[in-house]
Amino acid sequence: MADDTTRTATDLYAVAWNHGTPSRRSAPEAPIQVHRHDQRTWILRQSKTLNYEAPFLFLLLGTERALLLDTGAVGDPEAFPLRATVDSLLAEHLAAHPREDYRLVVAHTHPHGDHVAADGQFADRPATVVVGHGVEAVREFFGFTDDTWPTGSVVFDLGGRPLELLPSPGHHEASVTVHDPATGWLLTGDTVLPGRLYISDAAAYLATLDRLVDFAKTHEVSHVLGCHVEMTDRPRRDYPLGAVQQPRERPLPLTAAHLSGIRDAVAALGGKKDTIRAYDDFVVYLEPGHGQAPPPRPRTGPPTGRPLPPTVTPAAQSGRGPARSAGPFRGRRTGDAAVTAAAGGEHRRDTCLETK
Ligand SMILES: [Zn+2]
Repeated sequence: MADDTTRTATDLYAVAWNHGTPSRRSAPEAPIQVHRHDQRTWILRQSKTLNYEAPFLFLLLGTERALLLDTGAVGDPEAFPLRATVDSLLAEHLAAHPREDYRLVVAHTHPHGDHVAADGQFADRPATVVVGHGVEAVREFFGFTDDTWPTGSVVFDLGGRPLELLPSPGHHEASVTVHDPATGWLLTGDTVLPGRLYISDAAAYLATLDRLVDFAKTHEVSHVLGCHVEMTDRPRRDYPLGAVQQPRERPLPLTAAHLSGIRDAVAALGGKKDTIRAYDDFVVYLEPGHGQAPPPRPRTGPPTGRPLPPTVTPAAQSGRGPARSAGPFRGRRTGDAAVTAAAGGEHRRDTCLETK
């Protein structure tokens, strides 16, 4: 496929993402914001009014098949019509580029609950594969071997659009990073994003970041794109966990330089568990008991109903000291996301930041 499309691509630093509404009486936000980056590349953002995680999803099209990377934090097709949205985007594309056997692969940056919730919407879709969630399922589908997992990579070609997939354990053992040479994007899931970096296995995470740093030295990386924005536009300031509106968000893209910055930040923690440090564009959180399954945690909402600018980060008064206790933002876990998705409006009522 002629690579004519990326020349007309959008500026991801200038995209105005939906970021929640100030009150329940405000004009509603679309459940999915559809951003066409170029002729065969879309970014979808799930509305914060459905789930505070507001994950970004990526739809990449080749000549033979499309890849949908992640399915968001809500399964209900009425509330979150992901399948219908993807179907209409693909239909539009196929109207211009007819192809009978065009397929869809639904895969995941990692299988936390806010990245896989709408998998079921694709279960009965024709010509579609939904990749399973565990390490074994990911390895088998993409053809990783002991030689390439976790220290290598595989190429997954969409047809004229070969992607390179790199195992990226550390946030989750089944995490993968996707490099798309057509856009230069490095899609890092929750491994690298402008927000809270939850590290469940510090050794694996550091090894992953080392590999990503090396990869970026030898490949064009235009943007590093994670699946959430949790930083404000003020350095070191993140939104509270559970915030359902985020005015003044930091832009989504990070850069290759952030990869080495994050690696160095994590290395500086020296494996000290249950530690948080805030940096300009991200917050590092080394989870307690990393390398093991975490204990079940009760669902907690954001700690206060304070008006914005929102932060529970008294932050960094003493240089790089811990910005805050771990407690307030324990939450980006499969179970919690599932609870949040199921709770729907309840969650929102509990956590809405509007002031009376
Ligand atoms: Zn995650």
